[in-house]
Parts: sequence; structure tokens; C-alpha cells
Amino acid sequence: MIALVPLGSVDEELIDLFFKLPYFDFSVLDASPLPNSAYNSLKKKYDALKILVFLKKLANSYGFLKVLGITSEDVYYGSSLSVFGCAELNGTSAVISTCRLNGVSRCIFISRVLKEALHELGHLFGLEHCTNNCVMRFCERVEQIDAKRLGYCNDCRRKLEESIRSVTQTSLARSCIPHSKGTCCISSH
Ligand SMILES: [Zn+2]
Ligand SMILES: [Zn+2]
Repeated sequence: MIALVPLGSVDEELIDLFFKLPYFDFSVLDASPLPNSAYNSLKKKYDALKILVFLKKLANSYGFLKVLGITSEDVYYGSSLSVFGCAELNGTSAVISTCRLNGVSRCIFISRVLKEALHELGHLFGLEHCTNNCVMRFCERVEQIDAKRLGYCNDCRRKLEESIRSVTQTSLARSCIPHSKGTCCISSH
């Protein structure tokens, strides 16, 4: 289960669409404003790394192993001008920004948002960039996002499924009560 956190005001229809994504189960947390400490007044944008730290604390406080934040604000990473999203590789937190994903139609916008979500979620589960026609392909421009498919290639899908299995087992092991012999009640869940 992944915590989905609207950061500030986010289109509700967009949030609902996440429930149609394959592989992932989401639990939507209450909307939370972006932390002021992540705002860079010179760049007039938010620092992705600081947002990731904020999200990680939020996930820990609710007991989630993974969290995805979504914001309509502009976000940067390091010396980059802006990024569509950012994630800890095989880590806890990821964020996507819808700020630069607007297109000629609502349909294109939604497709871009979902591709970026799948991309950052892939990173969260350990996937790296891929050169196939795959949602894990690295993109710097929206046209590149439009050109890639809304889904994982076979290689990435296999890795993702394996990673989700191992994270789910970790999550079950965490939530169960150890028996007196030190074993765990995973099988009874
Ligand atoms: Zn990436
Ligand atoms: Zn791939």
C-alpha cells in the first residue's frame, strides 16, 4: 500500500485516476501544504529533495513504506531548472509535479501525469532508467513523455513485480506479532 499525498490543492479527478493504475494500491492521505522550508525564493520553485524528506517523515508517522506526493507547484532538483518528478531509488518517497505537464488537451495532460507517476513509482521500487519504449525512459521534455508508452516494458515489469513482492513481504513481517519462538505470523495474514 502506497500513501498518496496531495500537496496543496490537487484536482480530485486526477487523484481518482491513480486507482486505475495497475500494480499499485493507494491510500489517499489528507492534503498537506508543501513545507515552506522547501521553497526557494530566488528560483520561485520548491526543492524536490526537501519535499522528499518531508514526505518520508509523513510516511513514517503513518506507518507507510512508500509515499507519492503530487503537487501543481514547480519543482527543481539540484541545479536543474525544473523537474517533472523525483524519487529515492528503492527508497520511501517520491513526488511528481503537474506544473509543466499541461498539453493541448485534458487527455494529454492526464496521460502525462500518469506516465510520470508510473515512472517515479518505478524508481521507488528500484527500477532505473530504461532505453526501451517504456515508461522508465528518461525524459527532459513533455514531447518525450508523449512518445513513450503508458506502461513498463517486459524487463521492467518483471523487476517491478519481484520488487513489489519483496516489499509486501517486508510490510507483512512488520505488521505481525512475533511468536514466542521468534517466528512471525506472515502466513496467517
Ligand atoms: Zn527517472
Ligand atoms: Zn523498461
